[in-house]
Amino acid sequence: MAIHELTIHQLHDLLVKKEVTSKEATAALYRRIGEVDGKVKAYLMLTEEEAFRQANEVDRKITKGEGIGDLAGIPIGLKDILCTKGFRTTCGSKILGNYVPFYDGTVIKKLKEREAIFLGKLNMDEFAMGSSTENSGFHTTRNPWDLARIPGGSSGGSAAAVSADECIAALGTDTGGSIRQPASCCGVVGLKPTYGRVSRYGLVAFASSLDQIGPITKDVEDCAILLNGISGYDPSDSTSVNIEVPDYKQFLTNNVKGVRVGIPDEYFIKGMDPDVEKSVREAIDLLRKLGTEVKKISLPHTPYAVAIYYIICTAEASSNLARYDGVKYGFRSSRYEDLIEMYGRTRAEGFGKEVKRRIILGTYVLSAGYYDAYYRKASQVRTLMRNDFEGAFKEVDVIVTPTAPTPAFRIGERVGNPLQMYLSDILTIPVNLTGIPAISLPCGFSSEGLPIGLQIIGKHFDEGKILQVAFAFEQNTDFHLKKPTLI
Ligand code: GLN
Repeated sequence: MAIHELTIHQLHDLLVKKEVTSKEATAALYRRIGEVDGKVKAYLMLTEEEAFRQANEVDRKITKGEGIGDLAGIPIGLKDILCTKGFRTTCGSKILGNYVPFYDGTVIKKLKEREAIFLGKLNMDEFAMGSSTENSGFHTTRNPWDLARIPGGSSGGSAAAVSADECIAALGTDTGGSIRQPASCCGVVGLKPTYGRVSRYGLVAFASSLDQIGPITKDVEDCAILLNGISGYDPSDSTSVNIEVPDYKQFLTNNVKGVRVGIPDEYFIKGMDPDVEKSVREAIDLLRKLGTEVKKISLPHTPYAVAIYYIICTAEASSNLARYDGVKYGFRSSRYEDLIEMYGRTRAEGFGKEVKRRIILGTYVLSAGYYDAYYRKASQVRTLMRNDFEGAFKEVDVIVTPTAPTPAFRIGERVGNPLQMYLSDILTIPVNLTGIPAISLPCGFSSEGLPIGLQIIGKHFDEGKILQVAFAFEQNTDFHLKKPTLI
């Protein structure tokens, strides 16, 4: 197998056995990027000099006979929403086009301590608003399985890069599905951790009551390894929770006997692609054969999820994005006569269409007179959704659903219809609204050869159970081993 095709655990074994150096691995990944990124367009920026410096350091340790951790020397990619000290962090937006943070986010610090190698920054929808990367202020990333299609979003660059072997693994973020939906579209594994599991210090905020950082990887074992590397309490993020982090690898037992699996009727919606439904039903049958107890459950408030999400996330975004006024960060318009005009023109020229749409919607739902009708109502229904899940988790250990209603759609297909675009996340949004964790992993292919994702949802801080079920499923299937042919 070529070096760029390896998983984290495979490359780690070769590094330890001294069969490959981290420098060779890093060079192999940049070679791969050179070969395919002209087509995929996953990266916004490469950080070669720093990557080789980090790799040499790890190699020196290995040569000296020092032990290394399982992320040391592993080349990974970062969604461009994570603050990297000294390296541009654009958030996919022109308004942050030249923003260079003076500090590292906590996850970056943690991965540096674990001596992972950073290859560069990956494309995304502007401020993580979107499901296709078509809202990126720079360019659209393409799906490695079919270059005419979207890779999903907003972490589309991350998922496409993992799928095209342009990094060994990547970090993404998920506010309404932005890790799981692109993972599903690109045939890779993506996990949104419990709200509070991973620190968001140094993550550019979109919707603060929903945002989480998580791994996008080639298999479930890598997902556990990377989650180990980024999880944990951080006093710099007031929403991070001080609960002990287990070693997530211990859950990879390939034994799911007696695990109770819930299937919510409400997730097999009208308009779902028949290939998606078929693959997911087959996946559920396999889980049953592996010894799980499958039962029907109901999550009755599911139909309200998209409407509630677009009230809450736009409200929070309108407030979070107020800081981009041309004074403290990034871009400032050059055409203004006074301060107010400077603010106005900076925001008019710096933000893209979707971001403006959300700021306007968010300002509206928060405005006096409408707050009670929209924001307060949405928060109340959010509680009802949380109760739905709490009720369900009295009867089952995990919930299994499709990740997205359709496989990757064509570039341009939904651009003119924001509502249709919003519906891409109908099955992932409830998890963010309730703060629970969920994974997406490959479970089949459509008749056109496009990947299909299976979503496994767990209780708060029960990532272990999700990984246990996902690993057993993966060990008994080979969907994760298939590679896109880009040529
Ligand atoms: N696609 C959803 C949105 O546009 C979710 C995005 C995300 O999870 N960051 O808001």
